[in-house]
Formats: sequence, C-alpha cells, structure tokens
Amino acid sequence: MSAQVRCTCSRCTIRGLMGPAVITTLGILFLLNELRHGYFSFGHTFPVLLIVIGAILLASALAPMDGHIGAPSAPAPPVAPTPPSPPPNHSNPYSGQGK
Ligand SMILES: [Zn+2]
Repeated sequence: MSAQVRCTCSRCTIRGLMGPAVITTLGILFLLNELRHGYFSFGHTFPVLLIVIGAILLASALAPMDGHIGAPSAPAPPVAPTPPSPPPNHSNPYSGQGK
C-alpha cells in the first residue's frame, strides 16, 4: 500500500497515453483486417502502429515538464569510510616459486 504520487505534467500525461493508444491502434488494425480481408491486412497496416508510437514519443519529448514530480529520491546512502589499506606485503606467498 504505497501512496504513489502521480505526476500531471504534460510530458508524463502524454507518455501515459502510450499504452491505451497502442492497444486501441492494434484493435483498429485487427478490426480492419477482419472487415476487409486482404485489402487492409495486418501485414500491410502494421506501420500505422509504429507511426502512433513515434508520434506519442515525439509529443512527449516536446511537451514541457512544468510541475514535473520526479520519483522520490532516496536519501543518499552513508558513505562508508574506506578502511586503511593494509601495508603492501612484499613477501612471496609461494615460497620457492617464481625464481
Ligand atoms: Zn512529470
């Protein structure tokens, strides 16, 4: 149960239309496929879906973000102090090798 704050700026509103627009466009294209089989087959009309997606992305990219509510930023994790590096160990752990 998280009270999610929904942004109502133009950009987020347009972006929120992506799902319904894609579903509606797919429905229309499949309906045309069934009504006029052959002439409006999905194989010929699927670019319309890409055009709709591109138009929505373009509109959301151009829309202003006035009043945009971003995701609540989590507090920065405390920076752990770096432990002092151990002194370099120059002794060869594999005695008798590498000579
Ligand atoms: Zn927004």
